[in-house]
Amino acid sequence: MEEKYKISMEELILLLLAFFFFFVMFIFLIKMNFLIYFFFFLVSATLILLFPIFLKNKLHRRFLLKCSLFPIFFILILIFVLFCFNNYEEKGQNLIPYEIEFDAYIVNNSITPGKLNMDLLKANEIWNEQNIFLRIKETFYIEEIDFLEESFLLNVDATNKSECLKYNEIISFSNKSELRLILLDSESNHRGRGCICGCDSIVVDIKKELSLDLTGWNIAHEFGHLFGQFDIKNRYNLMCDQLKVIKPSFLNKKQIYSLTRNTFISSSVKIYN
Ligand SMILES: [Zn+2]
Repeated sequence: MEEKYKISMEELILLLLAFFFFFVMFIFLIKMNFLIYFFFFLVSATLILLFPIFLKNKLHRRFLLKCSLFPIFFILILIFVLFCFNNYEEKGQNLIPYEIEFDAYIVNNSITPGKLNMDLLKANEIWNEQNIFLRIKETFYIEEIDFLEESFLLNVDATNKSECLKYNEIISFSNKSELRLILLDSESNHRGRGCICGCDSIVVDIKKELSLDLTGWNIAHEFGHLFGQFDIKNRYNLMCDQLKVIKPSFLNKKQIYSLTRNTFISSSVKIYN
């Protein structure tokens, strides 16, 4: 008859502690770009992997080796992420405060004004770090745009003339504003668009992603496009939308340099203390 193994309480506690340490380090590692977290992450991962070797009982070892499969899988994913999204960047800082005013257009009651303010606060948490203050001038409620038009705004890249004509035709309700944020709730796979067809509007879908509400971050990211920034693959950069779940907010020196030369920024109201 096959011998069954029951893990002892001490072993279970040790294993749970190692896993806890491993997860905490993993979260710190992807959120912050410090070498020390990478070191601790590797130490905790190695501890979990080496743990079974110190056990004398063969069945104990087999059981714990199975437990190690999960961290191994995690490490492989992490190596992939680090490899693809980790270029060294020098941190940029804008020192001159600017206030960017825009009009908000709420399409088909997609968001309440209270929730919009909360999301704008989150977007401002990121931009205030760079002395840029986003402020709603006026809010409008729009109901004349239909489901297909909503999807068009988010799904089409609008890189050619006819697409841009259609894009501008749909958002013609906002013609009285110089700068506009359009909020809607569509079935699109995309959650935001910034700086297309004239580069004076942002479209943000308020739907959750991976059951997370990232509307605030999406607004901050799309404003980044409006301020002349392109998407880049760097896990802690605001312009990296592949890893938006960790809400990256970093901007590098080059980005800040181009940002301060952007017409929206340079023509906006400078705040003097
Ligand atoms: Zn983007």
